[in-house]
Amino acid sequence: MKRIMVIGAGQAGASLVAKLRALGHGGPITLVGEEPVPPYQRPPLSKAYLLGEMARERLFLRPESFYAEQGITLRLGAPVTAIDRAAQARASGGGGAGL
Ligand SMILES: Cc1cc2nc3c(=O)[nH]c(=O)nc-3n(C[C@H](O)[C@H](O)[C@H](O)COP(=O)(O)OP(=O)(O)OC[C@H]3O[C@@H](n4cnc5c(N)ncnc54)[C@H](O)[C@@H]3O)c2cc1C
Repeated sequence: MKRIMVIGAGQAGASLVAKLRALGHGGPITLVGEEPVPPYQRPPLSKAYLLGEMARERLFLRPESFYAEQGITLRLGAPVTAIDRAAQARASGGGGAGL
């Protein structure tokens, strides 16, 4: 089964990895993001969250446990600086290298 690495742990990246699992991809999936937190919603940042009407945890698109339960590896705080398609590897400012 193919290994899949998604770079960018925003709304699109988080939705993609969840959808891959939901559609039956059984191979390893890694979601790499430069930010140190799990994927979160941005719209409330300038609205309810800024007004103090929303807890930080509710910003997250899914609880961090979701990714482990789904066998999705989260590599956070890891800005990708280069990819090597032939070697199927990434270079990263943090969080290691490779898939
Ligand atoms: C304050 C705010 C309020 C908003 N309000 C609304 C709204 O009311 N309605 C609406 O429709 N939209 C709103 N938006 C826009 C909406 O949030 C975006 O359209 C949406 O977040 C896009 O999701 P995305 O996953 O495509 O990109 P992004 O959210 O930009 O996610 C990309 C992720 O990839 C990461 N990344 C990028 N390059 C690398 C790299 N080289 N290595 C590792 N990681 C990398 C980034 O750190 C980021 O976490 C708002 C945005 C903000 C900031």
